[in-house]
Amino acid sequence: MGSKLTIPSTITIDGPASSGKSTIGQMLAQHLDYLYLDTGCLYRAVTVVSLRRGKPVDQEKTISNLAANITIDIKQPTVEDGRQYTVIANEEDVTSDLRTPEVDASVSIVSTYSGVRQILTKQMRTIGQRGRVVMVGRDIGTIVLPNAGMKLYLDASLSARALRRHNENLRQGLDSRYKEVLCNLKNRDLTDSHRDYAPLRIAPDAHIIDTTRMSPDDVLAEIMSLLSTEINCKTDDSVGTVHV
Ligand code: C5P
Repeated sequence: MGSKLTIPSTITIDGPASSGKSTIGQMLAQHLDYLYLDTGCLYRAVTVVSLRRGKPVDQEKTISNLAANITIDIKQPTVEDGRQYTVIANEEDVTSDLRTPEVDASVSIVSTYSGVRQILTKQMRTIGQRGRVVMVGRDIGTIVLPNAGMKLYLDASLSARALRRHNENLRQGLDSRYKEVLCNLKNRDLTDSHRDYAPLRIAPDAHIIDTTRMSPDDVLAEIMSLLSTEINCKTDDSVGTVHV
């Protein structure tokens, strides 16, 4: 007979680009029957709309005003092209453009703007307050949901992350060069860690997992083991049980 675990209602996963957050976040959410929210797609959606409308992404006021007037909706996948979700921004499906090189090159600048961050953080908190959510990003455990019941920080070497992203691009039929991918990740890491508002930081109560030499299944097993030993789990945030 299996045992029962009490699980926290909100689980946050932060870390640098391509550290495995989205893959693990989705696997964990499926395993627990929780909602999965990849917050990077919100910053990416604002960036796609800015580029589609020809807005200069280096103009903070213009981009913040635009962000204030976009309604972003994240739905179950509507197309079977390997996507994790469908993102609609003001009734436009922006999903296929979320990970283009142009968006990769501009999204970190867009996410330095406090106006953009305030608007998107509010939306994330509204979703977080409903509970039963695995939320993935850069500042989720530190700023967006500082009282989350379990906080994880995934990391991996720059070369391992670049190789993962490069292979993912190739699998999706995108034109990809390893060196360019590595350079883009390095630049994004730098911008994300040094910006004034909500920089990428490890929350003091986060559990750090280095995924460099781990498969997604290994990482999931480690998280489930953490849940079972209740490391980092605050009992007042617990809502449910899961059979293990
Ligand atoms: O996770 P992903 O690589 O899709 O995120 C794209 C960008 O969005 C990051 O490089 C970062 O600049 C920004 N981001 C953020 N805060 C979050 C999630 C993403 O600043 N919570």
